[in-house]
Amino acid sequence: MMSTMSDVVVVGAGVIGLSSAIRLAEAGHRVRVLTDRAVEDTTSVAAGAMLGISGAGPDDPLTAWTERSTPVFEELAEDPATGIHRLHGRIHVDVADELPPWARVLPDFRALGPDETRGRVGMAVTLPFADMPTYLGHLADRAARLGVVVEQRHVADLADVTDTAEPGRVVVNAAGSGAGELAGDPTVTGVRGVHVVLADAGIEEFSMEVVASPRWTNVFPHPGRVVVGGAALPPDDETPDAQVAEEILARAIAVEPRLADARVLGREVGWRPVRPSPRVEVDDRGVVHAYGHGGVGVTVSWGVADEVVRLVA
Ligand SMILES: Cc1cc2nc3c(=O)[nH]c(=O)nc-3n(C[C@H](O)[C@H](O)[C@H](O)COP(=O)(O)OP(=O)(O)OC[C@H]3O[C@@H](n4cnc5c(N)ncnc54)[C@H](O)[C@@H]3O)c2cc1C
Repeated sequence: MMSTMSDVVVVGAGVIGLSSAIRLAEAGHRVRVLTDRAVEDTTSVAAGAMLGISGAGPDDPLTAWTERSTPVFEELAEDPATGIHRLHGRIHVDVADELPPWARVLPDFRALGPDETRGRVGMAVTLPFADMPTYLGHLADRAARLGVVVEQRHVADLADVTDTAEPGRVVVNAAGSGAGELAGDPTVTGVRGVHVVLADAGIEEFSMEVVASPRWTNVFPHPGRVVVGGAALPPDDETPDAQVAEEILARAIAVEPRLADARVLGREVGWRPVRPSPRVEVDDRGVVHAYGHGGVGVTVSWGVADEVVRLVA
């Protein structure tokens, strides 16, 4: 079986590249991952990461990929060592007067009353979350157990991988915000996000705002640490990371005063790979592209990985 399968080279060891590598190896492919950053230095490690909601409409592929991914995360949440865990919390929505219909089927859904929400409407729900350093470690270990080889190497041109390839080798471009340059696709931009990481402050529920502004507040508790964020800054926004982080912390303390006494452990900065719509398709050279998932790349990752396997086949 194995000898009739193509070898696959995946460029990228973020959540999209690693999830795709795992699914490809499970399907019987021999997989090599090339990455110019260590797994723990990818954008993926900087994600919050709230899962289970893409916010996209019913016909958007993000919705289908989320629906494929969420049951996988629910299963992973059974084992805390994976970095996936469930949290109950509140989402405050300031961009609509009504909650979207899909919200009502989320686990433990309850509409918040006007006196309970900081938005025009709000909901209490239970969702899966990823503690990304642990989760990426889990993915990397799982890939290694499946025989996936990860090599730290910069790819200057996809032709360097395809042209020297043995016949039948398939290349997957899952290079995140580097994918546009590799694909000659100018529509990919990096949208900066900043998180402040604090020591455990005894907070058990998450809080998230959905606002029209590129600055908002989210508070995501993970085992042993709390990730607070709320920035989606375009490339021409030159506000220094330190100032963005300071403002985020001030907003988060206003929402959750217990954070004022929590020790700051660090700051994470990442560039969301944003594209007008994500690209998961084969080009005319036979390269499979899987990039441009913006602020929901973790949420959709298993659905995208399944699609990559289908396209490689
Ligand atoms: C602050 C912040 C908060 C976020 N919160 C959430 C959230 O709550 N939920 C959610 O679902 N998503 C969230 N996201 C989005 C999510 O992090 C991204 O969509 C996702 O991580 C993208 O994964 P990726 O694998 O496509 O890219 P990346 O993680 O950027 O990985 C790209 C990989 O490609 C490699 N690479 C790039 N160019 C080359 C090259 N030329 N040669 C070799 N290797 C190359 C890199 O080294 C890296 O290994 C957040 C992002 C940020 C920044």
